[in-house]
Amino acid sequence: MTTTTTASSKDAYEAFSEHRHYHYRGCAPDPDRPQYAAADDTLPLDAWGGSTEDDLPSTKRLGWQRRAIAICGRCPVLALCRTYANSELPGGGLAEPDGVQGGQTSLERHRALIQRRKATPPPVVLGPSAQQIGDQVREARLSKGWARKAAVLRQLAWETDAELIAYRAGMDLRTSNWHRAALCTLFGLDKETASRQQLLDAAIRYRVLPARTRIVPDGPWPIAAAPNTDGSRQRRLAPKRPTQLTLPALPDPPRTTLARARPV
Ligand code: SF4
Repeated sequence: MTTTTTASSKDAYEAFSEHRHYHYRGCAPDPDRPQYAAADDTLPLDAWGGSTEDDLPSTKRLGWQRRAIAICGRCPVLALCRTYANSELPGGGLAEPDGVQGGQTSLERHRALIQRRKATPPPVVLGPSAQQIGDQVREARLSKGWARKAAVLRQLAWETDAELIAYRAGMDLRTSNWHRAALCTLFGLDKETASRQQLLDAAIRYRVLPARTRIVPDGPWPIAAAPNTDGSRQRRLAPKRPTQLTLPALPDPPRTTLARARPV
C-alpha cells in the first residue's frame, strides 16, 4: 500500500474513528487485559508507541514493532488509519508522527511526507494584475508625496550612483532608498530582487516616465532598486560588482553627459 494522501487530519480522523469496524482494530485494548492488544493479548499496546517513550532494549522494541506491523496488516481499518496517520496538521506536521500507525513506522511516514513535499510544486503566488497596478499607479500619482517619488524616478534614469540620485532628488540617501523600495512595490516588483532597469522599464510601461526616456546603463551588474544599508542585498545580487570608495571632500569623478529626458 502506498501513501499518496494529504487529507485534512480532522476529516481523516473522523473517517477513521467513525468507521463501523473501528472498534475491531488490531490495536484496540483487549477487554480482559486492557494494557494489551485485542488482536494479540501477549503484545502490549506500547508496541505501537514511539521508541523514545521507554527504556526498552532496542531488540525487544524492534520485536514488538514487527509484531505490531503484522497486526496492522490484518486490521480492518488499515487504509483509513494510514490515511489519517499520514495526514498533515494545519501547521504542516504529521497527524501521527510517532510509533507504528497504519502498518508503518514513524520513519516510513516521515519519508513519505518528504516525498510528497518534493513532488508538490510550491503554490503559485499571483501578484497584482496589470490593471490593478495601473489603478494603484494612477492613485499614487494623485497623492501628496508623489512629487518626491517622481523626482527619485527621474534621477534614477539619469544616474547610477545611489548618493547622486538622492542628492539630485533633493533628499538624503535613506529617504531616496525608501522611495525606491516603495516604487518597486507600487509597480508590482519584488523589491528584494528588482533591478534598476526593471524599475525604470515598469515606470515607462505605466507611463510614469515618457517612452523616450534615455536611461543611463549601469553595466552588467543589476543594481538593486532599493539598496539596504549594510550592502548585503547588493552583494547578493551582484557579488562581483566592484565597490567604489568615496573620499570625503573630493569631487565625484566626471560623468558622461547624456541628453536628459524631460521631467515627468
Ligand atoms: S492499522 Fe494498525 S495502528 Fe491502525 S488501527 Fe489498525 S492496528 Fe491500529
